[in-house]
Amino acid sequence: MFANTKNLLKKAQRGKYAVGHFNINNMEIVQGIVQAAQNFKSPVILATSEGAIKYAGMNFLYEIANTAASLSKVPVALHLDHGRDMKVIKQAIKIGYSSVMFDGSNLPFEKNVRMTKKVVRMAHKKGISVEAELGTIGGVEDTVISRNIVYTDPIKAQEFVERTGCDFLAVAIGTSHGAYKFKGNATLDITLLKEIVKNVTVPLVLHGASEVPHDIVKMAEKYGAQLKGVKGVPDSEVRKAVRNGICKINTDTDLRIAFDAAVRQFLKKKPKDFDPRHILSPARDLITKVVEDRMKVFGSKKRG
Ligand SMILES: [Zn+2]
Repeated sequence: MFANTKNLLKKAQRGKYAVGHFNINNMEIVQGIVQAAQNFKSPVILATSEGAIKYAGMNFLYEIANTAASLSKVPVALHLDHGRDMKVIKQAIKIGYSSVMFDGSNLPFEKNVRMTKKVVRMAHKKGISVEAELGTIGGVEDTVISRNIVYTDPIKAQEFVERTGCDFLAVAIGTSHGAYKFKGNATLDITLLKEIVKNVTVPLVLHGASEVPHDIVKMAEKYGAQLKGVKGVPDSEVRKAVRNGICKINTDTDLRIAFDAAVRQFLKKKPKDFDPRHILSPARDLITKVVEDRMKVFGSKKRG
């Protein structure tokens, strides 16, 4: 049984911490994430992008996540990340996700309002909550590509939330998707975040805030990865965002780099071992460590 995402985030809003949203693609990633949540007694949101669904199939990911949720003592929610295809959104609502995101950030304002409203109506009928996005988070994430960051307008955000009835809102305050986020130092516009919080009562979501941990990048590079130029958001900036009202933080890139680093290290160190279980176990363990590190920064420990 999945937890209700809206309830998790309302609780986080009151407690001034953020719940981690972690993208899943396979069983090892799900197990690694949920193990961290258990170890830390933290609530957790598992998320599938349209790309992940294309790779593994929604039914497979749903069942893996559902099994993890029923075996775990902490609240586990299942969320559709960056839904743009109405068919996929409808399927997620039907199968019983905890929440879906409708990403209309690439649409003109009025069309974004109209489409988000439509998704809200469908989802709420089944008790499923809806994340919407206003402004554009830059960078590349699976099938979602935006070259520019358009910062969220606080006045428009208020109007958007009131008219659509969305349950939480993804805002653009300077983060960017992917591993190649910034040329200079990443700084988030906390003044803008404060303005949005004044105008909008629903919990706010931060995308594109992976840390891209230096030690794990170094580990991946040591065993052959070519990651020159990768750069994430410093923990200090993420902590500031959480203190100022961010309640859900999406993480994908950090997990990918961890998985990659662990697999590379194993294959290089044990060239004679070809057992997939031996190859993937260290990846699963490193995912747990990375998720624990994120949960520390988000402040969600012992909140489950
Ligand atoms: Zn995103």
